Amino acid sequence: MEELFSYADDLGPAKIIHIYEPSSTLKAILVIDNLACGPSIGGVRMAPDVSVDECFRLARAMTLKNAAAGLPHGGGKSVIFGDPKMAPADKEKLIRAFAWAIKDEQGYIAGPDMGTDEVCMAWVQDEIGRSVGLPPEIGGIPLDEIGATGFGLSAATEVAMAAAGMELAGARIVVQGFGSVGKHAARFLGDKGAILVGASDSKGTVANPAGLDVGRLMALKDAGQSVTESTDGEILDGDAVIDIECDIWIPAARPDVIRMDNVERLRTKLIMQGANIPVTAEAEAVLHDKGVVAVPDFIANAGGVICASVEYHGGTQAGAFQVIEEKIRHNTEAVLQRSRTEGVTPRRAAVDLARERVRAAMALRRWS
Ligand code: NAD
Repeated sequence: MEELFSYADDLGPAKIIHIYEPSSTLKAILVIDNLACGPSIGGVRMAPDVSVDECFRLARAMTLKNAAAGLPHGGGKSVIFGDPKMAPADKEKLIRAFAWAIKDEQGYIAGPDMGTDEVCMAWVQDEIGRSVGLPPEIGGIPLDEIGATGFGLSAATEVAMAAAGMELAGARIVVQGFGSVGKHAARFLGDKGAILVGASDSKGTVANPAGLDVGRLMALKDAGQSVTESTDGEILDGDAVIDIECDIWIPAARPDVIRMDNVERLRTKLIMQGANIPVTAEAEAVLHDKGVVAVPDFIANAGGVICASVEYHGGTQAGAFQVIEEKIRHNTEAVLQRSRTEGVTPRRAAVDLARERVRAAMALRRWS
């Protein structure tokens, strides 16, 4: 039995629950990591090969992300074993069974993640009245449509540029992964005078040192096409997006895209992490030594979870933008300041700041 406690450390996890429901054949795991800051918010991931280990690591990431964002929420996560592309009726049965199984776990608020979406959250809401990331018809704020994460990323970028003594107007940006996060980040930064000189998606890259038209690229993507169908610039392969010289490089696609084998190819001054863990720890250390500032994912891409929290507390879309701007600006400033004064990477500074916030909240509770 002892190995069941192998994850236990100074923060959590508070609970690991294995769920099996025979009539639907639901198999799921819920990890509630830490509740000191409030009920946990974390996504429901559906995939055939999920595990306790993955679920715990994602729950811990949510504890730190929610605390770093300054939200009144702890961290949790859940995983459901299954193919997310299964027949919709089967998926509904599984999600409703899952919702019912967690109905008494008041410390966990479900949100969408890989393999689940706003419709799944509507089923959870229907069963137990507790979820975020809902369709607009039942009070949801459509965060991908409005570009909540891209908006937060642009606010963080403005702060990081100012901290480095650089102007955002006229700065050259490159976006790897022109999807929900990437395209909106390009749009909001474009509104502040930045120039998009490269963008990529799963099909390849388009580049133009004189600038790409963000609106035209967005229209292509919204029509289901690739950035490589643009006639505005030179078309290159997907990997070439790493080599494009710029002031701000924005990874907004996949994890681990910058590693020891390609980090030296980057020619940029600032990396704004839209994707989760896009740079390996070793590569982040190399960048730090070279004076390239990498604003970590859970500070820069917190716009989505901040928006979900505003939704949960009954706020509006306009209110969400205001809270995202205020919190992300404040947290980016705090992290970069700490990184400078302590001579540590921004990620180290951000993790320390988040852990301190969780511990401070724990000190206010009898049990956390
Ligand atoms: P998305 O599916 O809308 O967009 C991803 C884009 O990346 C697509 O255009 C896709 O073609 C492209 N892509 C896929 N593989 C690629 C590759 N190898 N090289 C270049 N481009 C590639 O997804 P999203 O919601 O924008 O999320 C992007 C990343 O940001 C993910 O890592 C996600 O976990 C993270 N994230 C998203 C949010 C959010 O609010 N959506 C919040 C926090 C973090």
